Amino acid sequence: MGDMVVTIDNIETVAVVGAGQMGRGIGAVAALAGYETYITDIDESQLEEAKEAIEWSYGKTVENEAATERETKAALASLTLTTEFDEAVGNAEFVTEAAVEQQAVKQDIFSDLDTSSPDDAILATNTSGLNITKLAESTANPERVIGTHWFNPPMLMDLVEVIMTEHTPDSVADTAEALVDSFGKTPIRCKVDVPSFIVNRLMRPYGEEPAWMAYRGTHSFEEIDSAMKYAEGFPMGPFELADFTGGIQIRVEGEADHLEDDRPMSYDTAVCPIIHQLYEKGRYGRKTDAGYYEYDERDEPHISVDAGQGFDTLLVWAPIINEAAKLVENGVASVEDIDIGARLGGNWPMGPLEKADSIGADVVLQTLTTVASRHENTDKLVETLPCDLLVRKAKTGETFY
Ligand code: NAD
Repeated sequence: MGDMVVTIDNIETVAVVGAGQMGRGIGAVAALAGYETYITDIDESQLEEAKEAIEWSYGKTVENEAATERETKAALASLTLTTEFDEAVGNAEFVTEAAVEQQAVKQDIFSDLDTSSPDDAILATNTSGLNITKLAESTANPERVIGTHWFNPPMLMDLVEVIMTEHTPDSVADTAEALVDSFGKTPIRCKVDVPSFIVNRLMRPYGEEPAWMAYRGTHSFEEIDSAMKYAEGFPMGPFELADFTGGIQIRVEGEADHLEDDRPMSYDTAVCPIIHQLYEKGRYGRKTDAGYYEYDERDEPHISVDAGQGFDTLLVWAPIINEAAKLVENGVASVEDIDIGARLGGNWPMGPLEKADSIGADVVLQTLTTVASRHENTDKLVETLPCDLLVRKAKTGETFY
């Protein structure tokens, strides 16, 4: 299996389809790592913007002494931006698609790649949430299709999730990881094509559980944000983060997709009503000047260091740890990769399974049972029930590491 697909030693040329925020960053990384790199887009003006953006970010890289001017000059020389799809992908041993997040658009791109790229090239997608297995199945050789999920901005973020489908042989995942490694990035492996992969699966309870607490009126936004930020060391509290990323809109608009998703570990729970209420009011976060917080004159929400004192942060950690344990239990990812993902992808102070070991699975289980009991009679209950692995660890006193 996978014999007809390139290995790392054969990869010299990389192509990126889509020159938006992500595609231009991925292309910039590949060129700087020494690959002959093509970036293609249907929109000429996006390519022009991409070129400027890459020159700007290379300038910053030199300023920060992360590369020399000679290296960035060589990278620019090895970079081609073109609207000619066939020219861009025709000689590439590795192609990654980073076009708009629409299944139909991506499916078309994959069937075009199937005919226009070399037969043994690896075809990757940067999708955040779409079904990679279906994309693979729209090609003649699904074995060569894989997910490589980058974080924004690619030049600065160290992590890339490598997502296998049921058709992906280990050899192809190994090659994709070796390539990511040669880019100077850290790969983690998602062994099953589950919705949201690893990092965003941990992010979901981080945003969702606090929303339920606020909805029920037991804790305020500021109290929870303050505790997670100042006591636990997260870069942003859950509400501040959602306002920053547009999480309210993403969660509501993504709900329908998730409900239709038939992949393993697909989600089946309702959105917290507070998220719906804000969405209905058009409060999507910073970009609309209001979300959980108001942003009229301020860039930053006011979150005092003291507001979170006395808040039990384990109420937030426990559902995340449970989600992480489910990923291990279902063979989706290793303990190490999950924690690396949280640290590098979320800039979290520690991974959920390190956290579990540091407090003990029995304490996590106790807190989780409290959390679950609060969701009684709601659609949320099933998702917060402790998984078998966590229950077993709590019983035996075993650790994750
Ligand atoms: P973007 O809107 O900035 O860019 C998308 C680009 O795709 C545009 O330049 C558009 O012209 C181009 N495009 C559309 N149809 C095309 C086609 N048929 N062929 C070639 N190019 C086409 O989007 P983005 O934020 O760069 O996201 C790209 C992908 O990466 C999406 O799948 C997204 O879900 C995923 N992603 C985004 C982030 C993020 O933080 N922005 C993070 C991880 C993954």
